[in-house]
Amino acid sequence: MTRKPLSYYQSIPEETLRNRIDSIRRRMGARLRILVHYYQKEEILAIADDVGDSYGLSAAASKSGCEVILFCGVRFMAETADILANAKREGNRRVTVVSPNPDAGCRMADMATLAELENAWRLLGEAVGTEGLVPVTYVNSSAEVKAFCGKHGGYACTSSNALAVMRRVFANPDSRVFFLPDQQLGRNVAAWMGFPPEQVFSYHGGNSVVKTNVQQLVRDGFLPAGSVEELTPAAELDRDAVGAAKVILWDGFCPLHQRFTVEQIDRARRARPDVKVVVHPECPREVVARSDEAGSTKKILDLVAAAEDASVWAIGTERRMVEALQRDFPTKTILPLSDEMPMCHSMNTITLASVCRALEGIESGYPDGVVTVEREIAQPALLALERMLQCKG
Ligand code: SF4
Repeated sequence: MTRKPLSYYQSIPEETLRNRIDSIRRRMGARLRILVHYYQKEEILAIADDVGDSYGLSAAASKSGCEVILFCGVRFMAETADILANAKREGNRRVTVVSPNPDAGCRMADMATLAELENAWRLLGEAVGTEGLVPVTYVNSSAEVKAFCGKHGGYACTSSNALAVMRRVFANPDSRVFFLPDQQLGRNVAAWMGFPPEQVFSYHGGNSVVKTNVQQLVRDGFLPAGSVEELTPAAELDRDAVGAAKVILWDGFCPLHQRFTVEQIDRARRARPDVKVVVHPECPREVVARSDEAGSTKKILDLVAAAEDASVWAIGTERRMVEALQRDFPTKTILPLSDEMPMCHSMNTITLASVCRALEGIESGYPDGVVTVEREIAQPALLALERMLQCKG
């Protein structure tokens, strides 16, 4: 069935789009659930049935009980929703997961492919063996990477429960963790676990997506010259260094959270000595160490919500989240940690126009943007995701 292009919907006034969206929601009732990540625009948050971070939305998808989920977030989130929403389904009755923009990827997730992971696992095996090595993937990763972790006794985790997952793994003191794709979350959690730097090994696989993003940060002045050269893989893994490691880190990162710096924190404190600085743990280790608090999107929200009126906060995370806090807590002073207010452009591609187009496709019975994870990938990925959901942050 041919559907009008997005450009047609973009020419419709917002009020009309809102009315069309509301009408479909009324007609579909409980058969439809709209899941929205905190980093979405205000007008998308306003139409949500569930708003959350990765952990909260994963939990919502696993209990959805609807026929169709419209997922307003990036692709790995929609994949996760498809796996969890269909985990217990029998026969052909599947929950259909639709994304208003299925091409909205996550640059961090793109930094780890299955082929690279398999190669890394082989190299680590040759260097020191993989016995006791547990792969833990941040949920910001492809379904294939999650499936690899599931098959190898590993876990997925979110920033809400990464520490709980690590504690679960290290309940066996002989364990070691291979953490991917976010080196910063992995490094921060390793530090919170009390592992000294010499027990944390940075694996560099020569990933071209990592290199491109590092080059951009060097050009923008957020990383020193020479950072790209540091990523050159050694001809052989240093057996002593890998052997001493309790945590091995992939070299991925979020290009947005990587831009926060200790200088920004120092500037915020000089400007407002009463400020509390809170950052997301995707930020570099030195930034997290210098802040007053660090935590998931939900934790940031809870901290600000529980704070006294007139308290002052500098927030180091995505722009939409900072704007939402400013809107929702007008009696508190909410400052962006960085004047630049970095934004996740993938998240930002979702608009009322793309939502309206997706919903009209759903109602017609011929949706565009359906996100489906093949069964042979979904089943092992589910193992990693279920282990994740068992670990409360
Ligand atoms: S903010 Fe960073 S980690 Fe989150 S979806 Fe965007 S690119 Fe990925």
